[in-house]
Amino acid sequence: MPIQKTISPIDGSVYVERSQADAAAIESALFHAVTAQKMWRNTSLAEREAICTKAVEYFLLHADEIGTELTWQMGRPIRYTANEIRRGFQERAKYMISVAGKALADVEVEALSGFKRFIRRDPLGVVFVVAPWNYPYLTSVNSVIPAIMAGNAVILKHAQQTPLCAERYAAAFEYAGLPAGVFQYLHLSHEQVAEVIGDSRIDYVAFTGSVEGGHAIQEAINKRFIVGGLELGGKDPAYVRADADLADAVENLVDGAFFNSGQSCCGIERIYVHEDIYDKFVKGFIALTKTYVLGDPFNPETTLGPMVRTSAATFTQKQIDQAVAQGAKAMIDPDLFPANKPGTPYLAPQVLIDVNHSMGVMTEESFGPVVGIMSVKNDEEAIRLMNDSQYGLTASVWTKDLDAAMQIGEKIETGTFFMNRCDYLDPALAWTGVKNSGRGCTLSVIAYESLTRPKSFHMKVPVR
Ligand code: NAP
Repeated sequence: MPIQKTISPIDGSVYVERSQADAAAIESALFHAVTAQKMWRNTSLAEREAICTKAVEYFLLHADEIGTELTWQMGRPIRYTANEIRRGFQERAKYMISVAGKALADVEVEALSGFKRFIRRDPLGVVFVVAPWNYPYLTSVNSVIPAIMAGNAVILKHAQQTPLCAERYAAAFEYAGLPAGVFQYLHLSHEQVAEVIGDSRIDYVAFTGSVEGGHAIQEAINKRFIVGGLELGGKDPAYVRADADLADAVENLVDGAFFNSGQSCCGIERIYVHEDIYDKFVKGFIALTKTYVLGDPFNPETTLGPMVRTSAATFTQKQIDQAVAQGAKAMIDPDLFPANKPGTPYLAPQVLIDVNHSMGVMTEESFGPVVGIMSVKNDEEAIRLMNDSQYGLTASVWTKDLDAAMQIGEKIETGTFFMNRCDYLDPALAWTGVKNSGRGCTLSVIAYESLTRPKSFHMKVPVR
């Protein structure tokens, strides 16, 4: 069986080694998933809720250890990693558990004399979740918990960078008393992922990752009559209007650009600022960026860890170099960040001005600690530039004028539109993307529609 190695971005050491599943392990997982789901689908919602809530309790009890593992696996500073569990993971899991009753209730239709008619939301069967490393719990929880709440079995393939996350889910569900087979994980190669999707026992694929990965998953799905949710990349824009609260916009957009070293699907990658406040905004943005501390993520002072791997840092640096060669101005001297080392995953944050849309840094996903800032004359120009993208995950406007924000929001091609907020998923709202950012949705009551199929009951009741 091939061994997969997780190389820690911190020091290049092998942090975890795991054998990938062989054909027998895959067959066993599929068999047990189908068998377990037949029983699980008949459990009450109250029982599912109790078990999923207990699983969340496991995560909270172990948040610090999980945080340490996460820092080793993907390099995010230790001061933040346990919060992935304590904040977003907990919030999303609990919300999706809380709305399951409403979302899964039978759909009543108009009364018709002599008939009983309704639409039931039947579980799909076995849901295959393929998850990325960048927010390994936040992304997977969006599918794992609601899939199980809806009466499905789940098989999780986590990223090679973060295999321990899959194992933590297994430990949590065991702690919670979930019947064996309802949740399982497999460490798989890409070829095996396609084979699993090709198996008739898989009923749905929930993929989160890159556009390239999304295409591979879509190709595998296309051989069957199933669908999948694809949550893919972004190039998320922000527009700062002249009437914005400048300090608030700077603070939030710097965080949105650089948290997790910019490795966030909905991180801020391009900013358009009204010309009246452009100079002030750029000055404030640069000053705050310089306060970041790049270095060993286990140092509690560190706010910027290494990127996930050297090739990712090299890709981002190349985007910066190309933009500069095309006329952009780099506003941060990397020497201010002594840990910055070319040829390693440690990359200083960068702010580029004098950028335009002929530059890759303004059009291709950077997924790194760089942001381009452009001056715009008015709302129309900002809207045109925000929409000039192959992606459409989130977009934000910074203003005090709700009506103006609404008018702009209606014209933006995006899955989520924010006003005075960014880089956040509200579990009550549908998480979705347009264009190359994907298809389908997770979170909110609407997510349950993808994890169930409608079954119509149409019964002519005998008259007595
Ligand atoms: P990725 O390389 O596409 O990997 C995501 C998952 O898919 C991993 O488990 C990976 O396995 C698997 N995978 C990748 N290529 C595959 C293929 N050809 N066949 C089968 N499986 C494949 O993405 P990533 O680097 O982990 O994550 C970063 C990307 O995800 C960014 O583009 C980011 O914007 C996007 N993302 C989107 C969202 C969202 O909600 N829209 C959230 C988070 C991240 P291995 O690890 O074994 O390669």
